[in-house]
Amino acid sequence: SERTLVLIKPDGVARGLTGEILRRVEAKGYTITALKQVSASEEQLAAHYAEHQGKPFYQPLVDFMLSGPTVAAVVEGDRVIEGFRTMAGTTEPTVAAPGTIRGDLGRDWGEKVQKNLVHGSDSVESAEYEISIWFG
Ligand code: ATP
Repeated sequence: SERTLVLIKPDGVARGLTGEILRRVEAKGYTITALKQVSASEEQLAAHYAEHQGKPFYQPLVDFMLSGPTVAAVVEGDRVIEGFRTMAGTTEPTVAAPGTIRGDLGRDWGEKVQKNLVHGSDSVESAEYEISIWFG
């Protein structure tokens, strides 16, 4: 099996959706092997979003991620990297499919940053890198 880093971003925590999102992860059959609530540091976010540095949404994204606590989880399961991203839905909540986390629950969209409730790693390499950032 595989593992991935899932983040419930500050909009998800602030809206009280932590339980609903983790319920979906568990109901699918994935295993949560580590879980914590954290106030992200600028250094963590610079590392986590290194690939986006220099893009127009980078600073709004970092400011949003600093705006409140995030819940970080290590989630394990068969093909969980692709599977969780399918559960999350596409980046923009406006057009994410019904049945997905973003499609069912996402409602905050804007030009500067997509407040899209969750993050999931996109490859085995990024999962290991991101787990080290959030769990040391
Ligand atoms: P996904 O690729 O499914 O969106 P992700 O969270 O890995 O997942 P990234 O492309 O890595 O998405 O972008 C990181 C985050 O930056 C997005 O989740 C979103 O919050 C924000 N973002 C990405 N692209 C844009 C954009 N064009 N405008 C505003 N915010 C964006």
